[in-house]
Amino acid sequence: MSTNPPKPAHFLAERITADLAAGKNGGQVVTRFPPEPNGYLHIGHSKSICLNFGLAQAFHGRCHLRMDDTNPSAEEVEYVQSIERDVRWLGFDWAGGADGNTPNATYYASDFFQGMYDYAEELIRRGLAYVDSLSRDELRQLRGSFDEPGRESPHRNRGVAENLDLFRRMKAGEFDEGSCVLRARIDMAHPNVLMRDPLLYRIKKAHHHRTGDAWCIYPMYDFAHPLEDAFEGITHSICTLEFESNRELYDWVLDAVPERWNPRPRQYEFARLALGYTVMSKRKLLQLVTGGDVDGWDDPRMPTIAGYARRGVRPEAIRAFADMIGVARNNSLVDIGKLEHCIRADLEPITPRALCVLRPLKLVLTDWPADRAEMLRAPWFPDDPSQGARELPFGRELFIDREDFALEPPPGWHRLAPAHEVRLRHGYVVRCIDVVRDGEGDVTEVHCTHDPQSKGGATADGRKVKGTLHWVSAAHAVPVKVRLYDRLFTVEQPDASDDYRHHLNPESLVEVNAVAEPALGKVDVGTRWQFERLGWFYADPVVGRPDALVFNRVIPLRDSWAKATGAVDAAASRPVRTRVPEVNSERRSEKAAGKTRTDLRAERRAEVPELAKDYERFQRDWGLPEEHADLLTADVELARYFAETVAAGAPAKAAANWAVNELLRAVKERPLAELPLAPTVFSALVVKVDGGELGASAGKQALAHLCTSGGTLDAALRTLGLERPQDGAALDSALDAVIADKAVEVSRYRAGEAKLLGVILGAAMQRTKGAFDGKAVKERLVGKLTG
Ligand code: ATP
Ligand code: MG
Repeated sequence: MSTNPPKPAHFLAERITADLAAGKNGGQVVTRFPPEPNGYLHIGHSKSICLNFGLAQAFHGRCHLRMDDTNPSAEEVEYVQSIERDVRWLGFDWAGGADGNTPNATYYASDFFQGMYDYAEELIRRGLAYVDSLSRDELRQLRGSFDEPGRESPHRNRGVAENLDLFRRMKAGEFDEGSCVLRARIDMAHPNVLMRDPLLYRIKKAHHHRTGDAWCIYPMYDFAHPLEDAFEGITHSICTLEFESNRELYDWVLDAVPERWNPRPRQYEFARLALGYTVMSKRKLLQLVTGGDVDGWDDPRMPTIAGYARRGVRPEAIRAFADMIGVARNNSLVDIGKLEHCIRADLEPITPRALCVLRPLKLVLTDWPADRAEMLRAPWFPDDPSQGARELPFGRELFIDREDFALEPPPGWHRLAPAHEVRLRHGYVVRCIDVVRDGEGDVTEVHCTHDPQSKGGATADGRKVKGTLHWVSAAHAVPVKVRLYDRLFTVEQPDASDDYRHHLNPESLVEVNAVAEPALGKVDVGTRWQFERLGWFYADPVVGRPDALVFNRVIPLRDSWAKATGAVDAAASRPVRTRVPEVNSERRSEKAAGKTRTDLRAERRAEVPELAKDYERFQRDWGLPEEHADLLTADVELARYFAETVAAGAPAKAAANWAVNELLRAVKERPLAELPLAPTVFSALVVKVDGGELGASAGKQALAHLCTSGGTLDAALRTLGLERPQDGAALDSALDAVIADKAVEVSRYRAGEAKLLGVILGAAMQRTKGAFDGKAVKERLVGKLTG
């Protein structure tokens, strides 16, 4: 990789540029990627890896790899090794060690346990921490809630000497797990719940993968993380948005200890990646592994880096995907089609083409002599024959794919059927004259004649032949196993609620005994190929052997999962295959075996009359589309929540849209009952957005914030800097800044290049972070540009 790639264009790069310009951190840029070694890395992590390592490269800084191993229970050496392997596979190196420059030296949070402990004692001495002996339940009760301040523990005012003594005894193992904790002494009435005397240490009598039994107290994330960053000299500590409210505590910890840090790390947040048709949490991925739903962490269907590698995806594709999705501050579900596009775009130029028949059906050329084989020359790269060619034997008996023959073809069928003509790739045009069937009426052989003047595909009389099929000579065919991998889940948001394992795609792996052209029989394992008309394939290096090849389908040629109708029911819609209809109908009925979520909801409504009533009412009285009524009556709690939202004033249709597209996503993170978002607040949000007072993207930001932090809508908008100023002064000044910034485009626009409005408007939307309604921004901008 180049050592001087172009600077990425996103808010974090801007931040770093500004810090460097201001001379902060002595001109250093040090980032880190801090996984907890409790599972394999997934595609979400790769976003963070590409971001952190990418920033370090772009700004000539360094990026540490740190195992955030402060929780002994779930961490394992196997995971540490897989993490190192996967980061390297993605194409990144790291440095570390005492001098920060030792190649491939990995940092471990556990190496800092003593330093953290010493600071904890220091906090006690400064009156900033105390040992609390309440039970976990009592602690929770005193914490208060979003609308209610917390209350002080009776142990809050223990003296320094007593606290030190208790803390040392905690460390010495004198107390049982859960009997006491070390807490920061901040403010039990703090508006940020996380600041209400948070826990710093807890007792955990577990064996640690590196420190063994040396410790029985372990630091909490909020205490450990800022210190790890500071000890390592991190300048920019980048994490995902759920940690936004933790930033205040991060800063408190760094300021509370006596050290004057230089550099003083700062935390920045970005949106985590959520990808359609996958689950991403390590906990859920582990369940798939231990539950036997997949064949290990590196199963090619897993969204893990190891899984993609095993499937045959190249790191180039994953990095291109990270670039494509960019980095921003609003959470959204990324269309898996984007990742698939990157995989195809990466493989397309580098894979030689070859012929392989997945489900062989014999084709006999009745006018071809039995003993005659003709060697055709077929280029590996049809667009560039200079890259070489192979010999492709052609003869009387061939195999074609079953799916390419239909006895009763549907309209528009361009493949083979009785009396139809097709071209055989690189070979001749053939016409079907007869079929042989077995006792059940299934076709077992197709008989054809060939046009001797059509070698290479063109007919001598210029008649048009529409279809071209792939094929393999029966006498030369090499048997290979092909694993047809498909998406692991059948719905876009498998963990939207209920049991995500319910949505496992029963056809995510179909293994077939295929036949390949002879040249494919001699390839090395670990190589990638494009099987014509089928997709990209990878000669599996683990189970495949040179004499018994196994090909993994990396990805089919084209997207066969196009969405049904917009994204109305993204959570429940069944994928609609846009393939030409399959001839083979048993496969289709197999597919229908599993029940869909839609079926299950219908069943539940049949059992719970209240739900059935709501389902009717939502459509009849409130005019909701059937799909929305269906989704919102998935359970009683949700239906009630929705009804209360509408009762509080939100227009029903808009509320349903927001509930289905945004709220259900949040409910995926935690159950509705625990969501700190009251229906009245949700209602207020919908009203504001629907009335055009708040832009949709600002609305989403606010909703995400409310779902994690609670509070009122106004408070959320204030915190996020999204308040809508009464007089429009903020919009005006933002637009003025954009006009100054885009002076060149502005003058060209004023000189008549109308299409530049888009560029200027884009900059304006970006600058206003979606705080204003798009239409309002446009109107005012045009006013300013023309007035
Ligand atoms: P999970 O919820 O999957 O267990 P995690 O956040 O607990 O993930 P860590 O090992 O703590 O996993 O994550 C290491 C780093 O990767 C963190 O900085 C985290 O912000 C980042 N990360 C994890 N998941 C994602 C994601 N989906 N998108 C972007 N970054 C992520
Ligand atoms: Mg974690």
